[in-house]
Order: sequence, then structure tokens, then C-alpha cells
Amino acid sequence: MRKPKLRELAEALRAVFHPRYTSRYPFEPCEPPDGFRGKPEFQSDDCVGCGACAEVCPALAIAVTDDVDAQPPVRRLVQRADKCVFCGQCELNCITTKGIRLTKKYDLATLDRAALTDSIEHELVLCEICGEVIGTRKHLWWVAQRLGAKAYANPTLILTADGGMTLVPHDGGRPGEPALARSDMMRVMCPACRRTTVVRELWGE
Ligand code: SF4
Ligand code: SF4
Repeated sequence: MRKPKLRELAEALRAVFHPRYTSRYPFEPCEPPDGFRGKPEFQSDDCVGCGACAEVCPALAIAVTDDVDAQPPVRRLVQRADKCVFCGQCELNCITTKGIRLTKKYDLATLDRAALTDSIEHELVLCEICGEVIGTRKHLWWVAQRLGAKAYANPTLILTADGGMTLVPHDGGRPGEPALARSDMMRVMCPACRRTTVVRELWGE
């Protein structure tokens, strides 16, 4: 009976003279460990604006808005840390693997919810015939780069990729006009308009 009491006393004395186990936050900054899941932030060099992160976000904390009337048309992605549950699915499923990163930022308390947003914008590419959104220019470049020579099977990718290298002067065709002939195949078109153009070329009206 006596021994355990002495052991407890020794433990208590050790604890009194031991340096503290906790940090002095908020009086001193606290460095989170590696793998800590803090505020997600877009990485402008690596995000291509595909929107996959918004699709997988379980908290609907990432909004994707396409403004087709802007000059040039843009896609805006806005991440809201006040809705985020810090699950990391956006980072895990990002197609470039580093377009959005969970940082080590954890001190997010604020009365201004607008301060908890992170956003990024990308130029959109629209179908020259129907005006449908095809994707962001950066996303199409990324796809063309991944496909290599196979990208030349798709005129939209050729025009976007070579347009980026300024190898092909492209005047945007005749926006709003229907595709008329084989030469119209070499236009930036959404899949539905390309299909219509091919069918019309092969079988007529
Ligand atoms: S960490 Fe999770 S909840 Fe937060 S933005 Fe990414 S996917 Fe959404
Ligand atoms: S590249 Fe990554 S971060 Fe950017 S929109 Fe796509 S999935 Fe989201």
C-alpha cells in the first residue's frame, strides 16, 4: 500500500519540475506537424481550372462559376474555409496533384467570413458555334501536353495548343454561325457541334 503512494508522489514531483508538455499558443506560434490539414489554398502555377476539386468536396466549400459574358470569358473558383471540413479530398483528387494544397494555417477565427475565401480565375474557351463552355484554356493546354502527338486528333486541342505557341493564326472563325463545310472542322467546337458538323459532312442535312 505504501509503495504505490511513494510512486505517485515521485510522479507528481517529476511532473512539477518537468518542462511543460503544451505549447504557449496563442502567446507563441505553434508549428503544426507535417501532414496537418489546414486551410486549403489554390496554387496558381499548378491549378488548371478543371473543377474536379469542387466535384469531390463533400462540404460544397468550392464554388465554380463560369462568366461567359466577360471579356475574355472566365471561370472563377472560390474556396471557402468557413465551410471546409479539412478532409483533404480536393488535394487528393486534383488532376495535376498540386493545384490546391492544404496548408498548415489553422488560426482562422474571424468575424469577417469574406476573409476566409481563396479564389483563382482562368480564361475560358467557348464553342465558336453554340457558345457552350469547353473548358479553361490552361486545362486544354494541360490535356494537349499529356496527350502529346495524339492531341492532333482533335482540332479544338490543336487550335488551343498551337494558338498558345502562336504557330497558328486563329481568328476565332465566324462566331455564332453554323458549321457549313469540311473547312469548319478546324474550328474550336464543343463535342455536340463537332458531331453535327461531321454528320452533316458525311450525310448532308
Ligand atoms: S478540404 Fe475537404 S471540405 Fe475542404 S475544400 Fe477540400 S474537399 Fe472541400
Ligand atoms: S487543377 Fe486541381 S485545384 Fe485546380 S480546379 Fe482542377 S482539381 Fe481544382
